[in-house]
Amino acid sequence: MRDMGRAAVYEVENMVARMMERGGPVDFHGSTLNLEPDMRFGQVADMQRYVDMAWPTVGVGPAPRIVQSRGRQRAYYATASHTIHVPDRRVFRTRLLLLHEIAHAVVRVSGDRDPGHGEAWRKTYCWILEQCGMPEVSLLIRSGFDADAAA
Ligand SMILES: [Zn+2]
Repeated sequence: MRDMGRAAVYEVENMVARMMERGGPVDFHGSTLNLEPDMRFGQVADMQRYVDMAWPTVGVGPAPRIVQSRGRQRAYYATASHTIHVPDRRVFRTRLLLLHEIAHAVVRVSGDRDPGHGEAWRKTYCWILEQCGMPEVSLLIRSGFDADAAA
């Protein structure tokens, strides 16, 4: 299926990830956001614990299972098995990217037919970032998506 939004989503995420890496204050339309470096997960078990903790707030039914996959730099969500496949290197195991995949899982269990990075997923992702204690990151991501939609 076509997924026109994916490249734009990755671009926005990479930009925000770099801002988080730098940390400190960011000017956002005249208000100051304070960013902290993103959380990185060491073990698959840590990621599973995080998903199990976050899922009841954002999803319905059983939480997705975390599976380690080799050689990839991006995690992905497998719809059929309701599993999130995560890279084996810690540098790619950020909370931002885990929440990205959780958003795919939430969209799927909510019965939305759009499996890509369209409007339903974007809204869900920003909402999950807020729910999971990253409201400032959510603002930055949302404004990146808005800029993309307006382009
Ligand atoms: Zn995605």
